[in-house]
Amino acid sequence: MKKLSYGRQWINDDDISEVVKILRGDWLTMGPTVEAFEKKLAEYVGVKHAVTFSSGTSALHGAMNAAGLKNGDYTITTALTFVATSNSALYMGAVPLFADIDPDTLCLDVNKADALAKKYPGKIKAIVPVSFAGYPLDIKAYRKIADENNAVLIEDASHALGRDRKELADMMTLSFHPVKHITTGEGGAVLTNNDGYAEKLLHFRNHGTYQKEMIELGYNYRLSEIHCALGLSQMKRLDDFIARRRELANLYLDQLAGVDNIKLPPSDKNHLWHIFALQVENNLRDKLAEYLRDNGINPTTHYKPVPLQPYYREKFGYKSGDFPEAEKYYAQEISLPLYPLMENSDVTRVTDCIKKFMLEGK
Ligand SMILES: *Cc1c(COP(=O)(O)O)cnc(C)c1O
Repeated sequence: MKKLSYGRQWINDDDISEVVKILRGDWLTMGPTVEAFEKKLAEYVGVKHAVTFSSGTSALHGAMNAAGLKNGDYTITTALTFVATSNSALYMGAVPLFADIDPDTLCLDVNKADALAKKYPGKIKAIVPVSFAGYPLDIKAYRKIADENNAVLIEDASHALGRDRKELADMMTLSFHPVKHITTGEGGAVLTNNDGYAEKLLHFRNHGTYQKEMIELGYNYRLSEIHCALGLSQMKRLDDFIARRRELANLYLDQLAGVDNIKLPPSDKNHLWHIFALQVENNLRDKLAEYLRDNGINPTTHYKPVPLQPYYREKFGYKSGDFPEAEKYYAQEISLPLYPLMENSDVTRVTDCIKKFMLEGK
């Protein structure tokens, strides 16, 4: 029986031959393919600059640096995200604050973020919403909070690489981890229309060096020619990847409509479907996950609310009950297999298995 995991890459022969060309060529790093990949990313999303980084995490670190975060500054982000979204603020000596999610979008609750910002007047330097699962963010609403606080708006768009955005944050970060929309193995990027941020990002990823002299502390966060050749090749199929993810997600939505104990995710025509995450009610989530695993289907869960991670509890004193919506969501959440290489019949196999469990497996 074919094993189904919650996500995986799609590498084809073209991808492989593009990478092999680099291996046979003159530049393995800091050559023309990095720029070509950056140009392609910027054009696709419809922004002026894309600056690649060694990972989505280092891209976030670069964005926090470009935003000018200093020791003692604060950022506001969602409790329901990957640890990198807030760790990147900690790397700058800043303090990440968390607000709960809006259960209708699963993204940072605008009113709660606003209320939190009002408690720290003059202190908030970045607002960092995350498009959870690829649900399109209400950028204008977050922009208002950022403007009122004189803060930089940074979208962690690791789940949300899509074409021609109408509304943009000041910076938008991407990840090219194998489960994301395109992959370079490891990799990331920051996209911006702001020339000043782009310049800062370029130097930060290269030891803080300007014209051969180091003028600020930077890092080696460069992405190699090998990675960028893979990314550039993957970009040719990004529209197809997204279209296929949408088809598969719509199949799930159709086939799971009305199934007992299942709460379907919020959908939207612009949803980018990085993951297909649903809620299982009545404490059945773990039993269902086990049943799926017994049938060769490997789901996962997204995300333990970051402030409840042991490190954050210890450092900042967060405790269970502080983020009721994110906690309730996490307790019920299951991420089903979703990646463009899946067949329609794979979706049906998963949904049949869920229906069977609800009928007789419990
Ligand atoms: C994947 C991801 C990142 C970055 O991860 P890397 O593995 O460093 O590329 C950051 N934030 C979110 C929400 C992510 O899903």
